Amino acid sequence: MTHLDGNALAGELTKFFAFDVTTARGRCASCGTIAELARAMLYTDAAGLVARCGTCDAVLVTVVESDDRAWLGFSGVSAIELRR
Ligand SMILES: [Zn+2]
Repeated sequence: MTHLDGNALAGELTKFFAFDVTTARGRCASCGTIAELARAMLYTDAAGLVARCGTCDAVLVTVVESDDRAWLGFSGVSAIELRR
């Protein structure tokens, strides 16, 4: 089986992340709740932003930024549904 390196994802992922991601529905990896990311509970008093599931309080998304880079974590989201 042949494969490409991750650069081949660039065009495909740009299609999905060039919009307001908070309108997308995500599935909580902890409890399975499916809801728009805009409905998550956002905490801003940490080193970055932490979005938690409104049902079970599990961490869904983290965003940490510095002057020249950012770190996005979606470890608590098992899937994101994008409508076209
Ligand atoms: Zn949950």
